[in-house]
Amino acid sequence: MVSDSPSKTYISGQRCGVLLPVPLGQVYDYRVPEGLFLSPGDFVRVPLGPRKLSGVVWGTGQGDVDECKLKTVIEKLPVPPMAEVTRKFVDWVAGYTLSSLGQVLKMAMSVPDALESPKGVKAFRAADPIPDIKMTPTRESVLQVLQSGPPLSASEAALQAGCSPAVVAGLAKVGALIEVEQVRARSWAQPDPDRQGPELSAAQQQAARALVAKARTGSYAPVLLDGVPGSGKTEVYFEAVAEALRRGKQVLVLLPEIALGAQWLSRFETRFGARPAQWHSELGPRERRETWRAVSEGRARVIVGARSALFLPYQDLGLIVVDEEHDPAFKQEEGVIYHARDMAVVRAHLGGIPICLVSATPSLESQVNAEAGKYELLHLPERHGGAELAELNLIDMRKEKLPATRWLSPTLETALKDTFAAGEQAMLFLNRRGYAPLTLCRTCGFRLACPNCSAWLVEHRVRGRLQCHHCGYNTALPQRCPNCDDEQSFHACGPGVERLAEEVMNIFPEARLAIASSDTIQGPRAAADLIGRIERHEVDLIIGTQLLAKGYHFPLLTLVGVVDGDLGLAGGDLRAAERTYQLLYQVAGRAGRGAHPGRVLVQTHQPDHGVMQAMKSGVRETFVAEEVKFRQDLHMPPFGRLVALIVSGKHETAVDAQAAALAQSAPRYDGVQVLGPAPAPLALLRGKHRKRLLMKLQPGIAPQRIVRDWLERARKEKGVRIQIDVDPQSFL
Ligand code: ADP
Ligand code: ZN
Repeated sequence: MVSDSPSKTYISGQRCGVLLPVPLGQVYDYRVPEGLFLSPGDFVRVPLGPRKLSGVVWGTGQGDVDECKLKTVIEKLPVPPMAEVTRKFVDWVAGYTLSSLGQVLKMAMSVPDALESPKGVKAFRAADPIPDIKMTPTRESVLQVLQSGPPLSASEAALQAGCSPAVVAGLAKVGALIEVEQVRARSWAQPDPDRQGPELSAAQQQAARALVAKARTGSYAPVLLDGVPGSGKTEVYFEAVAEALRRGKQVLVLLPEIALGAQWLSRFETRFGARPAQWHSELGPRERRETWRAVSEGRARVIVGARSALFLPYQDLGLIVVDEEHDPAFKQEEGVIYHARDMAVVRAHLGGIPICLVSATPSLESQVNAEAGKYELLHLPERHGGAELAELNLIDMRKEKLPATRWLSPTLETALKDTFAAGEQAMLFLNRRGYAPLTLCRTCGFRLACPNCSAWLVEHRVRGRLQCHHCGYNTALPQRCPNCDDEQSFHACGPGVERLAEEVMNIFPEARLAIASSDTIQGPRAAADLIGRIERHEVDLIIGTQLLAKGYHFPLLTLVGVVDGDLGLAGGDLRAAERTYQLLYQVAGRAGRGAHPGRVLVQTHQPDHGVMQAMKSGVRETFVAEEVKFRQDLHMPPFGRLVALIVSGKHETAVDAQAAALAQSAPRYDGVQVLGPAPAPLALLRGKHRKRLLMKLQPGIAPQRIVRDWLERARKEKGVRIQIDVDPQSFL
């Protein structure tokens, strides 16, 4: 059921449909109680079985519940109604992702507490007139404070009057002070759009003018802002943010991994004189409640957040920016499976507002859309201030004869030495957490695997544990091999960042190292702390996973070494090459951002690979053209559509039966092809067996109806879950 326009009103005794944020949630009929008017969008509390739930009035009742069984709405909740565009968005996302409306509404009502009246604090005002009581100097000064100012809590009144709170309590007892509830909405510092930004270069000005014009007209306009790292993309879109603010609109900036946005936040503060509201998984319950409420009341004007910020209850959103739009973190893989960048474009379309996708390495999808004229392309080809992009060289690892337990080539080692000698900083990039990705028995070859997942255990030597990166299972290194019973026979294979650090420490015992991975940097504070240390030059070498690959700007960092450039190319994922290029390019972009020129060295066994050649030449077009052709030939996205069905469950036989049943009832249409079932690469994940089916559709065929019909036709096994991933990004 599609939500109704807010101009409808339901009066007492009438039916209205209420959508509830529960997994199987649909729109249920309720009666409007005596004395209440309800409109679509109103938040209400209703009975459901023995429970009381909050939901949203979605439209006219369906009339499918008997009058005598019809339950009555309990109350209307004291929050602004959910805007019509938000309800349309919930409808749209549910339809597109083949999720239930209730599941999607749950994302838009993620903070149930925010629906209640904010709790007041106890405060006092002076009675008028003041009864005839015994006066003392302290009593008089309390009364004076409260007669001349706003109500205050006992402790505040006492503080201002210079007495003890007991005096205030005493005055209240004799009726000279009246107790009042005082609601204090947190005040949000307002970003000031008219503060002076930096003087923009000609190219920046041109891009900024185009964006500002979109923000001014305020109609749907998708823009791709494509520019090399350091070209000033952030400064440019800040101009559009300022324009939207001037027009009194709210602005949403989506960022991947907001947890690490410390530098972004302070830049925003420098430009606008106040911090934006933040939305990410690490907010405490109180901040979450206050932020949700402030967004719904329009008090929070700029919201920077991770993908779930898309579902906040904006009153008047006027601009969306998706920074690092190519980032895989925008895809939510659990629950409602959706891509936040794509949904953001939909949200902008529904709201009739501009959206700016920003990247130095735009996704192939966005590049193709720009090429086709669906997105307007704004290009910033040069670094600001004429700084050159770092010089990049490939190190052919087939020619470097390294012992099996060393990973730094002599060339990279020398470069590190020169960098330290010059008093500059370096970064080594290796996208592998822990000490070693695989541990095997030297005697029999047995490999230590996770009991719950099809994955090897990763050694974390600092913690003294072997760990599964999928389910969190961990164990100590066994004394004996469980297979051949040999003692102390285990051998660590391959490097992780911990092991690389060990190698570096042996070569450069003096260098001050920092390891940056999700194991060592947990949360925004730890990240801000490390960034501070790097900025103050308390660190010479950062050894990191992709955690620090993004967006940071360290003026003294002049050398970036990519330890294993080929790592992302293995696995045969559809986007492996694209992803590797994006990641390496981002990492390389960390070098030489200040006055000192930078250098990037990439160790690779495949120097002729298209990705490596594109990196080396600094020319993206050839590589992109090849990728486009490859996907076009195979009808792969964006030239065709994919939908993945993931069947999972505790019992392998049931999973197999379900997958077989799906294959049997697979749709047979021209232009639609179903592949599988095949065991998922992670055939066992968190103790669940998994099979995958993949539906391929030729361009122009919408998958939603086809998949819905398919699922209705197929026999259902008990205890098996079928997840639907429209436009899959991950094929695990
Ligand atoms: P990008 O987002 O494209 O990587 P940024 O906007 O982060 O680029 O800019 C890189 C650096 O250059 C930042 O420190 C930024 O403040 C600075 N910068 C960019 N444009 C200007 C400008 N016009 N005037 C002064 N500094 C600028
Ligand atoms: Zn596991």
